[in-house]
Amino acid sequence: MHDGVTVIGLGAMGSKMVEVFLEAGRPVTVWNRTAAKADPLAAKGATKAASAAEALAANELVVISQVDYAAMYASFAGAESELKGKVLVNLGSGAPDELREAARWAEGHGAALVTAGIMVPPPGIGTPISYAFYSGPEALVDAHRETLTLLGDVRFVGADPGLSMLFYQAMLYVFSSTLAAYFQAAALVGTAGVPAEGLRPYVADMLEQLAGDGPMGIVAESTREIDAGEYPGGENSLHMMAVGMAHQVHAFADAGLDAGVPAALRDLFDRTVAAGFGEQGLTSIVEIIRKPGN
Ligand code: NDP
Repeated sequence: MHDGVTVIGLGAMGSKMVEVFLEAGRPVTVWNRTAAKADPLAAKGATKAASAAEALAANELVVISQVDYAAMYASFAGAESELKGKVLVNLGSGAPDELREAARWAEGHGAALVTAGIMVPPPGIGTPISYAFYSGPEALVDAHRETLTLLGDVRFVGADPGLSMLFYQAMLYVFSSTLAAYFQAAALVGTAGVPAEGLRPYVADMLEQLAGDGPMGIVAESTREIDAGEYPGGENSLHMMAVGMAHQVHAFADAGLDAGVPAALRDLFDRTVAAGFGEQGLTSIVEIIRKPGN
């Protein structure tokens, strides 16, 4: 198999991808809207294409790392005839529907689109912690797995081209909302002069317990509940959790802190109780998340 790869988009992510491919000995052809960004990579051995059409022509595998999907269309405008037979692997972000539309666009030009969401910042690319969610034609992901694995572990999540971004956005949400919760908590103890380090060991322990298999392994337990559509509350009813959530909002507000995010959570709990889930468990809020506006 031809092991060359074209990389379109030489921002922070794309440039690092090129370096990783070059370090693995792959012939790399590059193109970027702002041509000067290709120069340091050309100095490291990449071939600088004079146009997007030339970059497309160079290899079957075309890795795209741009700010969004509009950038891809703009880059290939006028070069569509070169798309035929190409495997486009787009690692940029977009809304799932944009990805589905882009897959149809590629197919219309005789190309195939594999969509992807990479879960590390630039320095992480090509390191053991790196992985990306891929969706689209599985056979093409398999055909290019060896090359794509250079960037990070390949996690194929399904044929629907929107799926890679659903996983990507879902994981980023868990990341940012979990950290934001910790920051909020650290600010709360901070109002009494306690440094964040005074709280950190407890938070670290709780996160480990939640994700683990022990009696506090609530991630696994609620996963079973979500998939079963059953939310037994037992001694930890949602009603009790909602009362506690209201107390937390008071605590943040009384301490002079921004209570916007905790209040939004309290409202979600309250709406779920109002919908009749008060005697069930916390996981039942998923029912209201699925019915916005109710
Ligand atoms: P940068 O802002 O560094 O680079 C953006 C790239 O998009 C540049 O190559 C830029 O070209 C190109 N571009 C923007 N608009 C157009 C256009 N209209 N036509 C042609 N090219 C265009 O972004 P990153 O490299 O940081 O991110 C790239 C993608 O990777 C994004 O979708 C981002 O969400 C995703 N990502 C980023 C992570 C990160 O930590 N940075 C982590 C995981 C995913 P030009 O140089 O000419 O402006």
